[in-house]
Amino acid sequence: MSDIRDVIIIGSGPAGLTAAIYAARANLAPLVIEGEPSSTSDQPGGQLMLTTDIENYPGFVDGIQGPELMDTFRKQAARFGAEYLTAKATQVDFSTRPFSLWVEDEELRARSVIISTGARSLMLGLPNELELVGHGVSTCATCDGFFFRGHTIAVVGGGDSALEEALFLTKFADKVSVIHRRDALRASKIMQNRAFANAKIEFVWDSVVSELLGTERLEGLRLRNVKSGKESDLAATGLFVAIGHVPNTALFAGQLDMDDAGYLITHDGTRTNVEGVFASGDVQDHVYRQAITAAGSGCMAAIDAERWLESQPHEHHIEATTTDW
Ligand code: NAP
Repeated sequence: MSDIRDVIIIGSGPAGLTAAIYAARANLAPLVIEGEPSSTSDQPGGQLMLTTDIENYPGFVDGIQGPELMDTFRKQAARFGAEYLTAKATQVDFSTRPFSLWVEDEELRARSVIISTGARSLMLGLPNELELVGHGVSTCATCDGFFFRGHTIAVVGGGDSALEEALFLTKFADKVSVIHRRDALRASKIMQNRAFANAKIEFVWDSVVSELLGTERLEGLRLRNVKSGKESDLAATGLFVAIGHVPNTALFAGQLDMDDAGYLITHDGTRTNVEGVFASGDVQDHVYRQAITAAGSGCMAAIDAERWLESQPHEHHIEATTTDW
């Protein structure tokens, strides 16, 4: 069992690493459980590791690549003393303080915890889909729409996200095809009305994407009509997958309050229902989902944690002891 940390941060996207920068600069010597390398967004650095150019993150006139931005965040936090554990948290116990967190068999203890485990976009599950993310396939029109000016664009999904993405993308493309697996949309009536009224949006009903054409870049889509079984090709060079998101909250089931979709519920800034446990970033935000908003809420969580620690009668500002990590 290790010594007790002031703060342990779970997750290392913009929220977790910004929390780490602020907590480190507040002399809280945070440990960041940053996750494990993988080819999905569930890896150190989070969803931005699957993004190429980022042009809407303030401070970078010419834009920056997602992985480079996250590397910069990570080094900045390390400069002030944040430490990293490149592993996944496998279990937590928030029922008693100090809190316990496990990485496999290793127990870690902390006076406060900041959860920034993010969310992940649901993907279609096609063989070359992840390789094409950032090369024609995207999960965020606000982030990437601009790069598809003049392209033929398709959006998959029939919910509010799909229609919101499609409407936004009509700023950049003459035609946006919404591919939906049924013949009725799940989206709200108001969004449906807006989409139906937009001459640039066309619907491909009862259809699924069966194949992504292209190796280096997306060159087209093979579609299959689920009623007739007929296949056809669509010459789209941009595909936005908008079939929903899932927050990475399974680890906290039964301990932290969540909404029906599994997002952590926060109140008074970044507080969860457990005193001393804070949440920031996409794990508690299904509305904005931007790097900058995640970073902002990571900053809030670190400040909330610091103030909360200071308010604790017997525990305030005990210098975190170094561990083997
Ligand atoms: P959603 O409502 O769950 O819709 C997901 C859509 O993707 C559904 O149409 C679903 O088809 C389709 N889908 C799911 N898996 C698929 C697959 N494997 N292949 C093809 N299609 C698949 O998700 P969302 O649109 O992200 O919205 C989530 C929540 O956020 C909703 O409550 C929504 O109202 C809210 N939201 C609101 C706004 C807004 O008000 N402006 C914007 C975005 C999101 P089926 O319909 O056949 O199930």
